[in-house]
Amino acid sequence: MGRKLKVLFLDRDGTINRDIGTYVTTREQFELIDGADRAIALARQAGYQIVIITNQAGIAKGIVTPEQVEDIHLYLNELLAQSGGSFDHSYYCPTHPDYPHPEYDRFAWCRKPETGMVDRAVADYCAAGFEVDKSCSFFIGDKTVDVECGLRAGLRPILVRTGHGEEELCREKGIVPEFVADNLLHAITEYVLLNTC
Ligand SMILES: [Mg+2]
Repeated sequence: MGRKLKVLFLDRDGTINRDIGTYVTTREQFELIDGADRAIALARQAGYQIVIITNQAGIAKGIVTPEQVEDIHLYLNELLAQSGGSFDHSYYCPTHPDYPHPEYDRFAWCRKPETGMVDRAVADYCAAGFEVDKSCSFFIGDKTVDVECGLRAGLRPILVRTGHGEEELCREKGIVPEFVADNLLHAITEYVLLNTC
């Protein structure tokens, strides 16, 4: 077993950046939610690895390309650096069950609420000699699928009210987050940092 790590798994759209109602394809469309950069910097200072876990079915739909997604992630790290933060890794899932695609159908295992992207991140850390301590790691997102993915993966799920903010839907479906926060900054300052291992 390698050295233990605590990880903050973060959804992207509606959690870190504003949900614009469609897929973000350009840097110009990518706008941080107030305080998200500060939240990530604070979490890093507290010793968390930061890993982005994002469904990007716009790829299978032909709306956004993998290159555009990767460029936006480079841009995100440039923005985060201005507040002294950064993320460590990002994983995106290109598939959508309603949009069959010869190249991407084999990735169906990764689409949230499936835990494939989290599993891959944990395996990548393991290969690098680290063990993700799930009981000390959180999954933060704005949708039911984020909470469900976090629960299924054995992480501690937090729902944010930004983006889709599916608090009501979570309640209806009985998918219960450990905490509900107004936004990512509140999630970090009012819960994660107070319940850190
Ligand atoms: Mg989202």
